Amino acid sequence: MVRGPLNKLVSRSLSVAGNWQQQQLRRLNIHEYQGAELMSKYGVRVPRGAAASTVDEVKEIIRDVFPNNRDLVVKSQILAGGRGLGTFTSGLKGGVHIVEADRVPDIAGKMLGQVLVTKQTGPQGKVVSKVYLCEKLTLVNEMYFAITLDRKTAGPLIISCRKGGTSIEDLAEKYPHMIAKVPIDVFKGITDEDAAKVVEGLDPKVSDKKDAVEQVKKLYKLFSESDCTLLEINPIAETADNKLVAADAKLNFDDNAAFRQKAIFALRDPTQDDPREVAAAKADLNYIGLDGEIGCMVNGAGLAMATMDIIKLHGGTPANFLDVGGNASEGQVVEAFKILTSDEKVKAILVNIFGGIMKCDIIASGIVNAARQVSLKVPVIVRLEGTNVDQGKRILKESGMTLITAEDLDDAAEKAVKAAYN
Ligand code: GDP
Ligand code: MN
Repeated sequence: MVRGPLNKLVSRSLSVAGNWQQQQLRRLNIHEYQGAELMSKYGVRVPRGAAASTVDEVKEIIRDVFPNNRDLVVKSQILAGGRGLGTFTSGLKGGVHIVEADRVPDIAGKMLGQVLVTKQTGPQGKVVSKVYLCEKLTLVNEMYFAITLDRKTAGPLIISCRKGGTSIEDLAEKYPHMIAKVPIDVFKGITDEDAAKVVEGLDPKVSDKKDAVEQVKKLYKLFSESDCTLLEINPIAETADNKLVAADAKLNFDDNAAFRQKAIFALRDPTQDDPREVAAAKADLNYIGLDGEIGCMVNGAGLAMATMDIIKLHGGTPANFLDVGGNASEGQVVEAFKILTSDEKVKAILVNIFGGIMKCDIIASGIVNAARQVSLKVPVIVRLEGTNVDQGKRILKESGMTLITAEDLDDAAEKAVKAAYN
């Protein structure tokens, strides 16, 4: 699955001018143990498990839930995949460990409160505040299953593959013919034929195919009734006693459905969010953190995309996507500036405003106010054009701030790249 910031960016920036443009498209992501519980409610087979946030809780769970289990699976709960192959900043290898029950408290203690870095977390990693203890099943076959929304068919698409467990991205590239894709008619719902095609893609070796068809139908029911945008099980596996089980769970939900999925949305875990994005959401800004060095403050999603492109063209990389919108207040501009300056990776800030409904003088006052509240350690390049541009330029000039002014977009990007990398 494409899960990088660019994917988010593409889907989030498709807004048209208007007040609701201020509302950023976000997807709720829940932890594996929460996803497993939801699946279980729908009759999907999952390993027995319980989550813990302290070593004492871990011990209680072992005593009360798994008194007779020789081995257990200890799984770090972070809102990112690739945990199995991840590494803790403490040096511990692997976010998923299979160990004997009496060693579980020790390994859980080494995970709790620590930062796990995986292919999907970015180099800063994510903190593990819970571990999920599961019964150890003997997996004899690991497969891949996902339901997502497909642009081409404008509806749900079920993806299945007879190989799973590790990185599906590599697999899809190496063996594209192995991936089965079954579009579902959202009005008709899933048919027996659809489910059978999905099972053909899974190609179970030892478990009952009819049972697999029923499991697939239950997964689809959960997906559609819960307003999921993604339901991914990697691996969906077969056990030594010939059963199909969902041994992992990644579920995302459409934020527009928050009003009718109250119980699910109560599961949001803000400790896993990018702190820059949390601050931006509070200020009602369209912000997406990226990993470059040039902080951008722009009005309008289209102009923001163009600004990022032109930074790239001049050899720089944007640190973020930030659209202050068509009618941001001075206070929002201050907040935006605070977020940009708090990011240690930012080496220069490029302000690119085309004043239409958004007036240049509001932006200018916001920048000046922000500069009074936070210390500006990096160069700021400003390009203003449009409504009240002269007033805006005067405000900036009279503030006595050291700014680099630019004539047009191209000039601004060139100056920003120069300032950031010199
Ligand atoms: P991810 O790396 O974040 O996707 O985490 P997973 O939940 O997929 O766990 C990583 C790997 O651990 C899986 O691909 C399995 O191979 C293995 N694993 C997870 N649960 C079990 C289990 O109950 N039994 C066995 N034998 N392996 C498991
Ligand atoms: Mn997995």
